[in-house]
Amino acid sequence: MTAIELEGLGKTHARGVVGLHALHLRIEPGELLVVLGPSGSGKSTLLRLIAGLDQPTTGHVRIGGQDVTGLPPHVRGVGLVFQTPALLPHLSVAENLAFPLRAGRVAAAAVAERVGELARRLELEPLLSRRPGTLSGGERQRAALGRAIARKPRVLLLDEPFSSLDPPLRAALREELIRTHLELGATTILVTHDQEEAMAVADRIAVLDHGRLLQCGPPRTLYNRPLDCFVARFIGSPRINFLNCRLRPLEHGVHVEVLETDPPLAWHAPLREDAPRDAIPAHATLGLRPEHVRIVLDPLGTNGAPSLAAVVERVEYAGNDQVAWLRAGTLRLCARMPAATSLSPSAEVQAALDVRQGIWFDQGGRAFEL
Ligand code: ADP
Ligand code: MG
Repeated sequence: MTAIELEGLGKTHARGVVGLHALHLRIEPGELLVVLGPSGSGKSTLLRLIAGLDQPTTGHVRIGGQDVTGLPPHVRGVGLVFQTPALLPHLSVAENLAFPLRAGRVAAAAVAERVGELARRLELEPLLSRRPGTLSGGERQRAALGRAIARKPRVLLLDEPFSSLDPPLRAALREELIRTHLELGATTILVTHDQEEAMAVADRIAVLDHGRLLQCGPPRTLYNRPLDCFVARFIGSPRINFLNCRLRPLEHGVHVEVLETDPPLAWHAPLREDAPRDAIPAHATLGLRPEHVRIVLDPLGTNGAPSLAAVVERVEYAGNDQVAWLRAGTLRLCARMPAATSLSPSAEVQAALDVRQGIWFDQGGRAFEL
């Protein structure tokens, strides 16, 4: 299996547009890395540099220990899948699958065998004689995946391959991709702007914004320990709540006051033994996941957590759980709870904040610990 190492890899486009700020990243052999970010964040730029479709302005790409910077795509041993399937329109599905094998001078009998194998594997058998133009979006994307893996590449690179498909099809192809990835043992990089897709499939997620790598880690780490408020907001649905707070060091701990609430909501937060007290910012933002906002119908049921009176604006039922949108003065909060809790719009409730589960961000958006 093959590691991919990116060393100071960066790309500046014409007229000084930075597509990718120099980044360092090692993708482990057999890993499935998801590159996640909004539109224009540099995801395709990164993938194209790894594939060899573009050349970097700075840095190196190493695949399986070999420096491939400057080498053309076809010698890098990578399979590529794009949002628009790269199939040859005048060839049948079978011929499309065979094309990369023939180009690689594979013997005719072996080509036929591999095409049969791919067709069985990806359920393309009934489609083999059809042309791409006659296939549905999902079928076309399965054929493109087959084409990309025909030569058993050591690296599989996919750029938003499912984003033009409807959700059920997307989920099915996602399963297909994971199975293929595991069977092939190929080191795989999947680009997406869909955080849910990223969370579902990734060994690790690399989050990009404005061409910068903000954080790379397992889904759980990004969800629970985001290094930056952009990552915190981008990962998790519904998105994390942010509360603007004033912090004041006390003899033992920190006095926290939420700025948007009336009457003011304040509590006393403990401070780590070794925390440098003079490093506590005067203003900071507390990120609180919706599951850490609890609706309590009995005011005594807050278990000592800071709580505030709120009005239910809207309830989103999701089968096993539900999401309530709350308003408390100018503050809006999202709470997630079991569906068994009976809630109706305009109900007046008490919202308890499990602030110890919260994540602190300084004015620059960087996470810090109290
Ligand atoms: P993403 O795939 O995340 O949507 P891209 O990697 O395509 O983002 O683009 C990143 C940035 O680089 C964007 O600002 C985009 O406009 C710019 N860019 C991409 N390709 C080119 C190019 N060939 N010439 C100039 N700018 C480009
Ligand atoms: Mg793109």
